[in-house]
Amino acid sequence: MIVGAQWGDEGKGKIIDVLAERAAVVARYQGGSNAGHTVLVGNEEFKFRLLPSGVLNEDALCVLGNGVVIEPEVLCGELDALQARGRTGAGLRISGNAHLVMPWHRLLDGARELRLGDLRIGTTRRGIGPAYADKVARTGIRVQDLLDEKILRAKVSTALDIENDVLEHVHGLERLDPATTADEVLAFAPRLRPYVADTSLLIARALDRHELVLCEGAQGTLLDVDHGTYPFVTSSNPIAGGACVGLGIGPTRISAVIGVAKAYLTRVGEGPFPSEAEPAAAEALRTAGGEFGTVTGRPRRCGWLDAVALRFAARVNGLTELVVTKLDVLSMLDEIPVCTAYRLADGTVTRDFPAHQSDFHHASPVLEVTQGWRRAIDDVRNADDLPPQARAYLELIEREVGVPVTLVGVGQRRDQILALPGTESAVGVVAL
Ligand code: GDP
Repeated sequence: MIVGAQWGDEGKGKIIDVLAERAAVVARYQGGSNAGHTVLVGNEEFKFRLLPSGVLNEDALCVLGNGVVIEPEVLCGELDALQARGRTGAGLRISGNAHLVMPWHRLLDGARELRLGDLRIGTTRRGIGPAYADKVARTGIRVQDLLDEKILRAKVSTALDIENDVLEHVHGLERLDPATTADEVLAFAPRLRPYVADTSLLIARALDRHELVLCEGAQGTLLDVDHGTYPFVTSSNPIAGGACVGLGIGPTRISAVIGVAKAYLTRVGEGPFPSEAEPAAAEALRTAGGEFGTVTGRPRRCGWLDAVALRFAARVNGLTELVVTKLDVLSMLDEIPVCTAYRLADGTVTRDFPAHQSDFHHASPVLEVTQGWRRAIDDVRNADDLPPQARAYLELIEREVGVPVTLVGVGQRRDQILALPGTESAVGVVAL
């Protein structure tokens, strides 16, 4: 299982893409087209919002599990884009139990954010939250409904009975015509039908054959709707436990949980960020790290590695190992601060992530300053050749978090991942 250990955008896409070379199945278990993964293969850049990053491995099955919410238009668009670039996407399998993001979900997402004004969550406005809300309210529409025109039309009509009043009377928007809306969605059915499968069964069969199944989390631990920095979170469960629910696999079948963390920290949208860097330093990190949203293009807020938050991620995910990405981005710095504890409003210092939101909102970082290495490391191919300060930085992370660092990213490309000596990733040392 591969999870984001921070606020998302940790560089999971590239890691998953590399590890997927060994996998029989790569499966996404939550989120929707609000995710954004960037993978660089040779000089070709692939950006995915919905398709699992593992789709580039043509030999693997690529699952969108029941926990994912799917906007048919986006999925078909990504398949088209993939196929236009010579990939087939033939391994795609979609759970019939996954919920659909319907046109009104997107409209409601945007309208609610506007109404919230300064209190907005900072969603991607792609309708993901409203689609999950309908799922839990048991009024959602699922992928399998696409396969039965009569059922789909009835469900669209029932939903719009209420949603049209909300669109018109609450938000002053135009009503949607049920027949036209159903037509629009049904247009994607023939394209998606061949991919619909019982994905829980398919994964169980692969595990029975002792094949490698990679579960791919989107977003990150601190964006988890239950365990993240609520309400500035996503509407699903990116943590490891979410994979059991979102794919239909039992927890006893998970053999390893790999956390992916950047060597520093970013956050998109609103909400507290104790280790946020002051503007000039943040700008330098943003520029060096290309920290702009894959889906939205929004500049990301940037700061220093937060070991308090990483310890929390190790706890709630049960991390067995850590992959540190983008170490190269820190190469220009003389000194690198790391947040090892929080000072709370009453002056107490804690190494544990605060359970109460007010404590977190008022937490200031206790920073430990480490030496930078001040030379480019993107051409390093063997971890033994990393500068001693870079090795020390990784050791500090291991010590603070209590989880071994097995792989390190030193650049965007696939070959810019180093295996650390003395450690072995659960999926083996990456063949470089
Ligand atoms: P994800 O959603 O977690 O996959 O993260 P994003 O795709 O939003 O962000 C990762 C970005 O960082 C992409 O542009 C990657 O190509 C890039 N990236 C990944 N690993 C590294 C690395 O080790 N060094 C550098 N410089 N860039 C990296």
